[in-house]
Amino acid sequence: MKLKVVKFGGSSLADAKQFIKVKSIVEADEGRLFVVPSAPGKRTYKDEKVTDLLYRCQAKASEGRLFEEEFDIIAQRYIDIAEELRLGVDIRSHLKTVWQDINDGASADYAASRGEYLNGLLLADYLNFAFMDAAGLIFFRENGKFDAEKTQKTFQTEVAHKRRVVIPGFYGSLPGGGIKVFPRGGSDITGSVVARGVNADVYENWTDVSGFLMADPRIVKNPRFIGTVTYSELRELAYMGATVLHEDAIFPVRQACIPINVRNTNAPDEAGTFIVPDSSESEHGGKLTGIAGRTGFTIIAIEKDNMHNEIGFGYRLLSVLNDLAISFEHIPTGIDTMSLVLSDAQIEGKRKALIDGIIKACSVDSVEIYDNLALIAVVGRDMVNAVGVSAKLFTALARAGVNVRMIDQGSSEMNIIVGVESNEFEIAVRAIYEAFK
Ligand code: ASP
Repeated sequence: MKLKVVKFGGSSLADAKQFIKVKSIVEADEGRLFVVPSAPGKRTYKDEKVTDLLYRCQAKASEGRLFEEEFDIIAQRYIDIAEELRLGVDIRSHLKTVWQDINDGASADYAASRGEYLNGLLLADYLNFAFMDAAGLIFFRENGKFDAEKTQKTFQTEVAHKRRVVIPGFYGSLPGGGIKVFPRGGSDITGSVVARGVNADVYENWTDVSGFLMADPRIVKNPRFIGTVTYSELRELAYMGATVLHEDAIFPVRQACIPINVRNTNAPDEAGTFIVPDSSESEHGGKLTGIAGRTGFTIIAIEKDNMHNEIGFGYRLLSVLNDLAISFEHIPTGIDTMSLVLSDAQIEGKRKALIDGIIKACSVDSVEIYDNLALIAVVGRDMVNAVGVSAKLFTALARAGVNVRMIDQGSSEMNIIVGVESNEFEIAVRAIYEAFK
C-alpha cells in the first residue's frame, strides 16, 4: 500500500455534492490516510470564496463596521453542507465562536484561517477521520517565515504514526500562539508539508483540472496534458506563469523526493499529472514538456568599448541593481555588450535612477531601453539529449514571422528562454506549440 496525503482544493469542497465526491475518492484507495482540505471555494463562476468573505468580515470589523451580510453567507454555506450530509458537528456553535472572535478584533490571518478550520471539522466528521488543528502542527517563526524544522519534528512525533487524519490547510501558528496563514492558495503548501511530515509515498493534489497543460489554454486551443513533469521543469513553468499548484508547494516534497500527483475531483478516473524528482527516468526523446510565458519585461542594452577586458564591469552593473533593490531576470551578454532583462514591476518608479546609476557606475558608451518585451520559456528535461530542438524552435518562430529579441539558454539545457515583442507573444506561443505538440 502506498501512503498518500490527499489535498482537496476549494472547488473540490465547495458544497455537499463535492463532499460526496471527495469521500468516494478517499475511500477508493486505502492509502489515502491524511486529508488536507481548503476552505469552500466557488460553486459557480460568479460565486465568492469563503476565504475572500472572511477577509472582508475582518476588514469591516477592524473599521468598526457591521459584517453580518458577509458572515451570513459564510455561515449558510457551512450549515448547508452539515445539514445536507447530516453531520454531527455542532457547526452553529463553531460559527458563533468565529463571529465573536472577529467581532472582538481577531487578526486577518486568524479570520481567513477559519475557512479551512471549519471545513476540516466538517470533512473529518463526514469521513469519520480524526481532526488535528494545524495550529498545533505547522509553525512559523517570529519573522513570519515558515519553520520547517519545528514543523517536521512535530509531525514525526505527533502525526506520522497516526492514520485517518484531517489537517486543515493554509495556516499554522506563530511562537506566541497567534494564527498565521501561508500566501493565498497556500493549502497546497500545507499538503506538501504534511506529505513530508508523515513520509508519504505520494502527495495527491485534487483540484478541478486534470493536471497541467502543455500551454496556456487561453492562447492555444485544447493543449495536451502533461503526463509527467520534474520538479525543476515545474519551477520554470510556474515561474513563467503556468499556475495550477502554488509555487512554494514544491519545496517540502522535493526535499523528500515525494512525487506530487495533480488530479481532478470531477474526473477521478483520469491519471492527472505526476510531478517527479529530477533524477527520474525520462522517455521523452526531445519532446517539450511545456511552454509558458509572460509579458511585461524591459531590456536595458548596454554597450561599452572593450567591456570584455574590463575587470569588475559586471560587478559594478549589478551593484546598481542591488542599491536600487531591483532583481533581474536574465543578463544575456555579448563581447562588448550586456543586456539586463528586467520585469516592469521591478523597475516601476526607478527607471531614471537606474539609467543614471548605470551611466555613473559603469561609464558606458550607450544605454538603450526597449519596452514591451514578453519572455517565453520552452521547457523540456530531455532537450539536453536531443539534437535540433533549437533549430525547430527558431524555424517555427521565423515561419510565424516573429522577431526574436533575446535568447537565453542555461547550461542545464532544460529550457530555452526567448524574448519577443509583447504584441507577438501569443503568435509565438502558438507557433512553438504547433511545432512541438
Ligand atoms: N483558502 C485559501 C485561499 O483561498 C487557501 C487555499 O485555498 O489554498 O487562498
